[in-house]
Amino acid sequence: EKPVPTEKEMMRKRHRYISPILSISYQRPIHVKKAAFQYMYDARGNSFLDAYNNIPHVGHCHPRVVEAGQRQMAELNTNTRYLYDLLHQYAEKLLSKFPKPLNKVFFVNSGSAASDLAIRLAQAHTKRQNLLVMEHGYHGNTQIGIDISDYKFNNPKGQGQKPHIFKTALPDTYCGLYSQNDGTAGLAYAQDAIRHLEKIQSPMAAFIAEPIVGCGGQVPLAKGYLKPMYEAIRKQGGVCISDEVQVGFGRLGACFWGFEAQEVVPDIVILGKPMGNGHPIGAVVTTDKIATSFEKGVEFFSSFGGNPVSCAIGMAVLAVLEEENLQDNSRIVGNYYVRRLKELQKQHPCIGDIRGSGLFLGIDIVKEGTKEPDPQLAQHLKNELRNRHILVSTDGPFDNVIKSKPPLCFSKENVDLVVNGLDSILKDHC
Ligand code: PMP
Repeated sequence: EKPVPTEKEMMRKRHRYISPILSISYQRPIHVKKAAFQYMYDARGNSFLDAYNNIPHVGHCHPRVVEAGQRQMAELNTNTRYLYDLLHQYAEKLLSKFPKPLNKVFFVNSGSAASDLAIRLAQAHTKRQNLLVMEHGYHGNTQIGIDISDYKFNNPKGQGQKPHIFKTALPDTYCGLYSQNDGTAGLAYAQDAIRHLEKIQSPMAAFIAEPIVGCGGQVPLAKGYLKPMYEAIRKQGGVCISDEVQVGFGRLGACFWGFEAQEVVPDIVILGKPMGNGHPIGAVVTTDKIATSFEKGVEFFSSFGGNPVSCAIGMAVLAVLEEENLQDNSRIVGNYYVRRLKELQKQHPCIGDIRGSGLFLGIDIVKEGTKEPDPQLAQHLKNELRNRHILVSTDGPFDNVIKSKPPLCFSKENVDLVVNGLDSILKDHC
């Protein structure tokens, strides 16, 4: 048997062909070989608890999803220029998860392609260019994706904010101007944003936001924020876009889509990551009216978007979500997770905030007794957990927020492992 190469050797091979602009997680990168449900296995046979990966939504390599893909791959795969049952069957099933006005879907292959198309739809429908985007938001790697992502264009190495892009303050109740998360802060943030909007000469084509801002550090929009925002944008004749790439498909536990938590119905929804459990599918869901406006322009075509294999996989993901009650599991295990983290917070004042919903959580690591971010400690926790075979990541403008968004089959025992791991690392650290 061939000896397992060292991580250093693997890195050398990788960087011979792959640019280091694609970063790797952890001080000690992991040479992964296999995965199943919420576990990953390295080349030496070590197992890791995946408390981080947003994408294998119903569990890594779920046998139902794998089987659906394999079966369809052996039968038919083609572009959408033919008639085949799976396309309308999957579209119907997916749209059944949305409120009535959202009744048209465009399939693509990534969240970025979905964001790009969503903006094109909005601009075609409104015949305008201006876009209102969220502070610290991220929506994709295409040029349009970067143009609308403060996280990218506002980076010191970024391209800067284009003249048609307008940014609004993140309605954060932990760190921002307003903190009463009973609707008061949400309304105050929205009123500020609306005042700012009124000062802009030409109206918006669209407003785009995630219900919980992932790259912002897992920050849920303040309660009651989106309703007045959506009203103001629509009053201008603009459309409202919800990016559900990270939070969608039941991850938040209490609701299937993030926008439901804000009691709004968007005009356009962006889907990706969990939709194919790792298979590259994305989609834009919208209204008849917006789809009709877009139809007046040049033809839209995607070679792989909505291909039979992707549809079969997407169908299997939805079936597993239902059959295994994974949204309920996300709610129950997520509530337990928050409870255990709050207990931990009492012993460790470096845990400034615990936020999120279901299995989409952020742990804000701060300097004791302040709200000042402590990225060094957050990185230490992430890397030490990895050394204990537990995978989490960090995010936020200061990279001090530990994010946990595991496959929805995560269990309370898995939560205990993460929380006990954090506890023991923090005890050793003090
Ligand atoms: N929107 C959000 C909120 C995301 O987090 C991401 C990916 N991190 C994207 C869009 C882009 O998705 P993809 O990487 O599949 O292109």
